Amino acid sequence: MKHRIFNASLILSAMLISFTSCSNKQSQTAKERDVFAMDTFMTMKAYGDSADIALEQAENRIHELENCLSVTNQESEIYKINSADGAEVPVSYDTALMVEAGVFYWQETKGALDISIYPVLSEWGFTTGDFHVPDTATISKLLEKVDGGSIEVNDFTVKIPSGSKIDLGAIAKGYTGDEIMEIFQNNGITSALISLGGNVQALGSKPDGSDWRVGIKDPFSPDTNMCVVSISDKAVVTSGNYERCFTGDDGKEYWHIIDPDDGFPADNGLVSVTVIGEKGLRCDALSTALFVAGTDEAQSYLRNYRDVDAVLVTDDGKILYTDGLSKCIEISSDMPSEVIPYD
Ligand code: AMP
Ligand code: MG
Repeated sequence: MKHRIFNASLILSAMLISFTSCSNKQSQTAKERDVFAMDTFMTMKAYGDSADIALEQAENRIHELENCLSVTNQESEIYKINSADGAEVPVSYDTALMVEAGVFYWQETKGALDISIYPVLSEWGFTTGDFHVPDTATISKLLEKVDGGSIEVNDFTVKIPSGSKIDLGAIAKGYTGDEIMEIFQNNGITSALISLGGNVQALGSKPDGSDWRVGIKDPFSPDTNMCVVSISDKAVVTSGNYERCFTGDDGKEYWHIIDPDDGFPADNGLVSVTVIGEKGLRCDALSTALFVAGTDEAQSYLRNYRDVDAVLVTDDGKILYTDGLSKCIEISSDMPSEVIPYD
């Protein structure tokens, strides 16, 4: 079996492009920090007098969240929930909030996002690197325990059925991004850009007042960008089939985003989904869920929920984007592109 996932987490999933304005040169220089956490490479850049302190606090917060979310660390709250054998487990505010968000998006996306998919993901080897294609009987058995609706969050406790396991991999970086934005704001920072392994999030605009320019990878050629979006105060989050994937003995490609309907890597017409909106958590949940939902359902979701924009890439090589991006997207790919119709 060929493995080609591991180095992917070391490469930024979105390339950040920034230009210095000639007419309005800023005296401020960026303070930067790189962190390896949550199994991915993270970069943070902030401007302002308190940037050093803010970056230090942000790094501490990343590690704090990682410690409560890890599925493998026996001290983590998620590990404790997963090994509680059906008992109620006291958790922190962060864990309660994220698990609650997992349940919320399970409902909102009609089960496309399901944080209880973990046992299936594990069986495929996506959690260990020991990849293989499971037989359908094993998957069917594991799917019996996958049910986002069976997760109970009450104040500061979480309870899941015995035999179920949860994993917040689809939303944790989005939540972390929002937390970092809050830390920056509390420190008086007005201009910052972070990339948490593909989750790009901007606070304000660049110090010269212009928008941040964020590149979105071409899923068919992930070393290059297919487009750039100009944004401020937004998160830009991508889920793609080119990350964490392997080629099975049958020669087919398999990737880490699982369709809870059949327990196989979601293959519903899309190879990449980027969601752009004000909150990292929402964009992260929706990029994963819309990838699972597929071409038609993703478009109808986007017609109903206009608070986010999105760029979808279909498996036959078409770029579809919401009309909210018309003025801020620059497409550099040869792929045909069109605005998602809203009728
Ligand atoms: P993302 O990169 O944000 O799209 O999240 C993908 C990660 O979420 C995977 O690596 C798994 O840990 C987890 N995951 C995979 N499929 C699902 C799903 N259908 N619902 C929730 N989490 C998932
Ligand atoms: Mg996600």
